[in-house]
Amino acid sequence: MVSRLILVLGDQLTETLSALVAGDKACDVVLMAEVRDEARYVRHHPKKIALIFSAMRKFATRLQTQGWAVRYTCYDDVENAGSIGGELLRRASEGGQSAVLVTQPAEWRLINALQDVPLHVEMLNDDRFIASPADFETWAAGRKSLRMEYFYRDMRRRTGLLMEGDKPAGGQWNFDHENRKPAPDSIAFSGPMQFEPDAVVSQVLMFVETEFCDHFGDLHPFWFATDRDQALCALGHFMAHALPRFGDFQDAMLIENRFLYHAVISPYLNIGLLTPLEVCRAAEAEWQAGHAPINAVEGFIRQIIGWREYVRGIYFMQGPEYTARNALGHKRPLPALYWGGETKMSCVAHAVTQTREEAYAHHIQRLMVTGNFALIAGIDPTALHEWYLQVYIDAFEWVEAPNTLGMSQFADGGIIASKPYVSSGAYINRMSNHCKSCHYSVAQKTGPGACPFNPLYWHFLLRHRDRFAKNPRMGNMYRTWDRMDEDRRKAVLQDADRVLAALDSGAVV
Ligand SMILES: Cc1cc2nc3c(=O)[nH]c(=O)nc-3n(C[C@H](O)[C@H](O)[C@H](O)COP(=O)(O)OP(=O)(O)OC[C@H]3O[C@@H](n4cnc5c(N)ncnc54)[C@H](O)[C@@H]3O)c2cc1C
Ligand code: SF4
Repeated sequence: MVSRLILVLGDQLTETLSALVAGDKACDVVLMAEVRDEARYVRHHPKKIALIFSAMRKFATRLQTQGWAVRYTCYDDVENAGSIGGELLRRASEGGQSAVLVTQPAEWRLINALQDVPLHVEMLNDDRFIASPADFETWAAGRKSLRMEYFYRDMRRRTGLLMEGDKPAGGQWNFDHENRKPAPDSIAFSGPMQFEPDAVVSQVLMFVETEFCDHFGDLHPFWFATDRDQALCALGHFMAHALPRFGDFQDAMLIENRFLYHAVISPYLNIGLLTPLEVCRAAEAEWQAGHAPINAVEGFIRQIIGWREYVRGIYFMQGPEYTARNALGHKRPLPALYWGGETKMSCVAHAVTQTREEAYAHHIQRLMVTGNFALIAGIDPTALHEWYLQVYIDAFEWVEAPNTLGMSQFADGGIIASKPYVSSGAYINRMSNHCKSCHYSVAQKTGPGACPFNPLYWHFLLRHRDRFAKNPRMGNMYRTWDRMDEDRRKAVLQDADRVLAALDSGAVV
């Protein structure tokens, strides 16, 4: 048999990866490489680099113990070619291979880079996902609107998850009306399972500390799972202690509790330590055993076989140009407060501090605090996209870009979101305890002490009236505005201009 190189990327750390299944231990050679191009295409949070390098090193060892020949390139190896393509060529010339087997990379950047490599590169479908890009296109063909809910139902039918015959378990597809309660006074979950760095992780941490010390984010304490066994423990911990309350407080935010009942498994899913189907089957088993209610389990499964699969489908269907979309023409530079610059807005300050320290914020912090503020303030969506890609441990373009540009910023013109996710301070006040200790008053609509979300919300709606006034889900908002008295409307818009001018001048907002 002729030897091939099997390329395993840093987000492909799954033993059942299609390229490994199709490979032959007797003659093929696995190539894994920590390369400059991947570590530096944006200034990733140091925790993210530490997670990926640690997990790659441990995965390589695991493959070796299973009998694979592995060529592993560390970041500081003197011969490191600095790019995936360069490493393929270097290892191919060492080993005499001319063919490469790889599971299709998750991002256009790497797919394109591999197409330029002068070797015979065979790309296999990434069957860790339930729907392939081709499946998604088939589902999308001929549809006027691509709402996630209908795609999700198809995924339920296809996987059989929470199905009783051809009917949804519990008689409904979606139990969201029972979810999304305001923040409770206290949380009974101690948070995600944390792990002491072992020898491999400690070595990576020392290296990341010196090499990437200028990137935004705290490296220590580092407690993430870095191999499959640990990731399975973290998953089991969530299933046993948090899943039953997952749905209830999915959208809540609490200053004292950064994780509430969230799973914090996206980093493990996104690099392959866990697979979506096994995670969903584990949740379904909790419901079948009577340990977790249907609203929690359905809500959780929907995030994974619904939203996660759906955004990947959109990413591939829309092509590499998706990340340049700016349907609303927003151009304001990203204010310094996103990098930890001073702000008097308690909700934003906490979301950014938490992001710096944990490389994690949950969905509503991303969508309704940092995302919402950027949208109503008219921030350039590309700058915001780069921020999200840099600062979160689970950020990979295929999942981050549709969430940021599509769901959060309406930059794709409404492919993902049927209306923009904008709100005044009232929503944040209802779902969190941030406003109680904020410099600003959420109840105040105008004046220097008013919550900046309040005037900016109206300013956004008026800036884009032509686009949104006819949206059936937004007509009420415009009618409310039109009913306001003239002086109040003037004061609101003047306030919004004042806040925007302060952002532009670098003053503290
Ligand atoms: C602006 C913005 C940017 C985002 N960027 C990313 C990103 O870079 N990477 C990422 O994995 N998720 C991203 N999300 C989605 C979501 O916020 C995270 O998946 C979630 O916060 C991860 O934390 P968790 O594991 O505790 O999730 P939980 O709330 O416990 O949910 C369970 C799982 O469901 C999946 N999930 C939930 N919502 C989504 C979603 N909207 N899209 C895809 N999967 C979802 C995740 O795999 C998650 O682990 C983003 C959302 C927004 C609004
Ligand atoms: S008052 Fe406004 S800025 Fe302050 S925490 Fe509440 S929503 Fe955020």
